[in-house]
Amino acid sequence: MSTHSDPNVTPRQITAYATLTRNGSIEEWSFRQREARPHDVVYDVLLCGICHTDVHMIGPWGQHFPVVPGHEIIGRVTEVGEAVTGFAVGDIVAVGTMVDSCRRCGPCTAGMESYCENGATYTYDGLDRIDGSVTRGGFARSGICDERFLFHVPDGVDLAGTAPLLCAGITSYSPLRRWNVGPGSRVGVVGVGGLGHVAIKLARTLGAEVTAFTTSPDKVEGALALGAHDVVVSRDEAQVAARVNTYDFILDTVSTTYPMTPIVNTLKLDGTLCSVGIPDRFDVLPIALAQGRRSIASSGSGGTRETAEMLAFCAQHGITADVEVIKPDAINDAFTRLAANDVRYRFVIDMR
Ligand code: NAP
Repeated sequence: MSTHSDPNVTPRQITAYATLTRNGSIEEWSFRQREARPHDVVYDVLLCGICHTDVHMIGPWGQHFPVVPGHEIIGRVTEVGEAVTGFAVGDIVAVGTMVDSCRRCGPCTAGMESYCENGATYTYDGLDRIDGSVTRGGFARSGICDERFLFHVPDGVDLAGTAPLLCAGITSYSPLRRWNVGPGSRVGVVGVGGLGHVAIKLARTLGAEVTAFTTSPDKVEGALALGAHDVVVSRDEAQVAARVNTYDFILDTVSTTYPMTPIVNTLKLDGTLCSVGIPDRFDVLPIALAQGRRSIASSGSGGTRETAEMLAFCAQHGITADVEVIKPDAINDAFTRLAANDVRYRFVIDMR
């Protein structure tokens, strides 16, 4: 390994912010970083977004406590392994939701590692495929990642606004591309949160006519400012009913089960609602699907190929997330506010 400082410290003890037990608060903690391998890049974490998935992961979804969350990471490279070819010490890099996969199956060989048939290794709370150690996320001073799962951050972009693109951005971009959103498309985005606000920007930039659906009347002006052509307050039945048979595609980012039938009814014949929010179940009447030959689909985060494409697309079009940057001592407050839908639109922790 080459390094900017002390070459003899891997594996080493890393200061982090973790929840030690399920539903616990986030506390300062430290862990032993796994040993670096020839294809690994070690980086100092500069910034890390707080995704609603982190709320799920410190609660019901977490598996290997203590959990160090964070999968919207911007870092600066401090060491590179001897086999690394694409990165150098000092590079500004990004890490998203995964750090490894089997690399052999069909999805992996197509650069869609998030759909690895043998299970992608998540950036945190996953198990390292080689030594079985628990993976640790971006709420830490340092991270380690095989270069295949690391991205260059385009020059000149706002780093805090770019961090959320590594999950909120790609999770929105991937289905918008998969369902061919572009000029002539009429698109609904349900939920103006971390994912939804980036989705509005992306869909608009792709050329679609965009309607935002929000439960929050106080987000109407904000959604228009993000680029929505039209905003529907979704708890107003009349506003939703006025859009029946309107949309080719709806990206639903809602994090919980909600009454979906009225929203599904706003799809045109053969329209698709893609729910990326991973609620426990869907509350929808099948007749709403039958009547318009409509589909409900879902999508995970994108793979490495599409993530690199998304970062370039966002840099080209000046798309970043709207963020509230916080210091680590405000993480617990940020989790409380995120769970209460009180952020416009993404918290990003400044780890520097
Ligand atoms: P977020 O910032 O909390 O945004 C979710 C939005 O949903 C809220 O801002 C709110 O928007 C709306 N909402 C909340 N409760 C609602 C309810 N009861 N009924 C209707 N709308 C409601 O969360 P996020 O970070 O965007 O993440 C959203 C979900 O996506 C999470 O569950 C997360 O785990 C999941 N996710 C999935 C993937 C994937 O791979 N598929 C990747 C990342 C995240 P309004 O105030 O505008 O109504």
